[in-house]
Amino acid sequence: MSPTYDVIVIGLGGMGSAAAHHLSARGARVLGLEKFGPVHNRGSSHGGSRITRQSYFEDPAYVPLLLRSYELYEELERATGREIATLCGGVMVGRPDSRTVSGSLLSAEQWDLPHEMLDASEIRRRFPTLTPKDDEVALFEARAGLVRPENTVAAHLQLATRQGADLHFEEPMTRWEPYRDGVRVHTAENTYTAAHLVICPGAWAPQLLTDLGVPFTIERQVMYWFQPRGGVQPFLPENHPIYIWEDAAGVQAYGFPSIDGPELGAKVAFFRKGVVTTPETIDRTVHEDEVQAMADHMSRHIPDLPGAFLKAATCMYSNTADEHFVIARHPAHPESVTVACGFSGHGFKFVPVVGEIVADLALTGTTDHPIGLFDPHRLAAAPA
Ligand SMILES: Cc1cc2nc3c(=O)[nH]c(=O)nc-3n(C[C@H](O)[C@H](O)[C@H](O)COP(=O)(O)OP(=O)(O)OC[C@H]3O[C@@H](n4cnc5c(N)ncnc54)[C@H](O)[C@@H]3O)c2cc1C
Repeated sequence: MSPTYDVIVIGLGGMGSAAAHHLSARGARVLGLEKFGPVHNRGSSHGGSRITRQSYFEDPAYVPLLLRSYELYEELERATGREIATLCGGVMVGRPDSRTVSGSLLSAEQWDLPHEMLDASEIRRRFPTLTPKDDEVALFEARAGLVRPENTVAAHLQLATRQGADLHFEEPMTRWEPYRDGVRVHTAENTYTAAHLVICPGAWAPQLLTDLGVPFTIERQVMYWFQPRGGVQPFLPENHPIYIWEDAAGVQAYGFPSIDGPELGAKVAFFRKGVVTTPETIDRTVHEDEVQAMADHMSRHIPDLPGAFLKAATCMYSNTADEHFVIARHPAHPESVTVACGFSGHGFKFVPVVGEIVADLALTGTTDHPIGLFDPHRLAAAPA
């Protein structure tokens, strides 16, 4: 007979691991199925660091979710003893009318978030590694910083296991179908049934959610680590903020303080300059011209950063057309399936609150969190 669960979670990356934790914490009998091993580097939740911030230029509607996410990140650290968040402060830099600056200010003002506006000379005085142009400003947020993706996923898996969830790795779902009042899920090894299915597919959304009716674009992204000229001291988290820097052409680059010791430099990347790919065909080799383009770009903003090139890694964004998430009961299977996908390159800071929302939706069909922005109906492909 098929093993039976209350909820089966597909994908135990960032979002799925958090969902497995929140569901099992509420007493649900949970099975988690993951295509790869625990805390792997083949999806979207690896690379050592992710920016977190509250003055959210993407849309002020994200702010209440961020406030809750910060609380849950703290709980996660307390419950597991793992180091996850480093709130070293952050600057959103650009011209005053850039989306990065004006959007961050809009959220800060609308939600009364603590922040400071810095002109170019104040940026240079406070953060001597940064060399803004005279017409650039920054919104500084003391509660911005970074979270560690691998530690976050490991912590959620640890808690889910402790709470009785069955987590199966290297066991991808091959297909599923409606079954009685719930679902039946197939893998190469077994067949499982459950009252409800949660799908957190990351970059595999185009394959796993064909009937969602939402187009996704999977983008290859590259993260670069450089050894700063003169060493990491000025780049340590006690001296250096995270940053997102939008130039006059609208190109955004972002980076982190040095968090992994003097040999490992500091990480930097472009935000949204990827090429379209798939999880099967992604080019995992980072080419010399890409490294050079990143170094040239950063030398205009943080000249000491691109010293020796240390390493690079690839990762994938799963973009929706408007770069907002999709979190909902599945429109075609509203009784039995919840989806969390399309995190469009800015989802990690929300991982714990997404776990909470998904648990609400899976177990009760609704949530008190404001998720109107993430309704898949807004993106439904027009009929051919
Ligand atoms: C380079 C880069 C930088 C980023 N920077 C930031 C940042 O600074 N701040 C921020 O907030 N966000 C950032 N993001 C975005 C954030 O990391 C992602 O939004 C988040 O990690 C997505 O999590 P996920 O659970 O959707 O995907 P994943 O963590 O990839 O999880 C999906 C999982 O589904 C599994 N899976 C797929 N198919 C199956 C199947 N058939 N059966 C079972 N399992 C399956 C996969 O193996 C995978 O483990 C960044 C992303 C990238 C790539």
